[in-house]
Amino acid sequence: MDRIHIKNLEIFAHHGVFPEENTLGQKFVVSATLYTDTSGAGRTDDLTQSIHYGEVSQQIQAFVAGHTFQLLERVAEELAEELLLTVPRLEQVDLEVKKPWAPVGLPLETVSVEITRGWHTAYVALGSNLGEREAYLNGAVQALRETRGCRVEQVSAFRDTAPYGYTDQGEFLNGCLRLRTLLSPLRLLDRLHEIEQAAGRERKIHWGPRTLDLDIVLYDDAVIDLPELTVPHRDMQNRDFVLYPLEEIAPWVRHPVFRKTVAELAEELRAAGGRAEEG
Ligand code: ATP
Ligand code: CA
Ligand code: CA
Repeated sequence: MDRIHIKNLEIFAHHGVFPEENTLGQKFVVSATLYTDTSGAGRTDDLTQSIHYGEVSQQIQAFVAGHTFQLLERVAEELAEELLLTVPRLEQVDLEVKKPWAPVGLPLETVSVEITRGWHTAYVALGSNLGEREAYLNGAVQALRETRGCRVEQVSAFRDTAPYGYTDQGEFLNGCLRLRTLLSPLRLLDRLHEIEQAAGRERKIHWGPRTLDLDIVLYDDAVIDLPELTVPHRDMQNRDFVLYPLEEIAPWVRHPVFRKTVAELAEELRAAGGRAEEG
């Protein structure tokens, strides 16, 4: 992606762990690389099709001078989030926050923290088979819309499906949605668990009846194998109730392990006569 650089912007501010730093203040130096597509502006000479580096510089100055944090890590994290939430067209940002007068007592040139943050695309599967199923799914969509750092871009139709695994239970209502998010995979999982809890989810029988089930199906091209999180969802290729709604909103998206598109996976499942056994 294209990049716009803001290099060594000097800002007098009050961040630090020592009380003197918070009262006297000192010099901070911020560099930012803004990732965006500049080709529209490049062709038309129209600034509104790019990012105004003058305005962003003002915004960085106001934010860094206007808050007081202890750690450079926190300055960088909060500033990255502020920029990603408010600057249109900003996809990703590299931020370096330097503290040249850091009270270390040794002759160093500067200390700094450098981070990269950005928007990610995740696909989330929704399911419910207890109570007001549609209201639970709509409630989950709404809760994600209201989550800071989350933008719900598209929601599939909801469809009825026979239960999976433990089959002695009510029909499910299932759907999928596309989310743009600033949350890391694990933080997104935490947020989904919170939303499930708020919907009265109780974990009794594995694959048993539930008011609300929210699974991360895909997260960018990430391949994650942690005890608490597997991405892509380990069984998505066998599930009609995941693949068919996903196909509706993301047929061209490629599974990062199987290297097949969602449309191809859905077609294979249809050819196999619908639902396969868990594999
Ligand atoms: P399945 O994962 O086969 O659809 P389930 O959704 O019924 O089963 P849950 O009881 O809802 O299973 O979740 C059990 C745990 O699975 C969660 O607490 C979570 O830590 C873990 N998990 C692993 N990968 C994922 C994922 N991609 N999305 C959501 N949860 C996941
Ligand atoms: Ca599930
Ligand atoms: Ca789940």
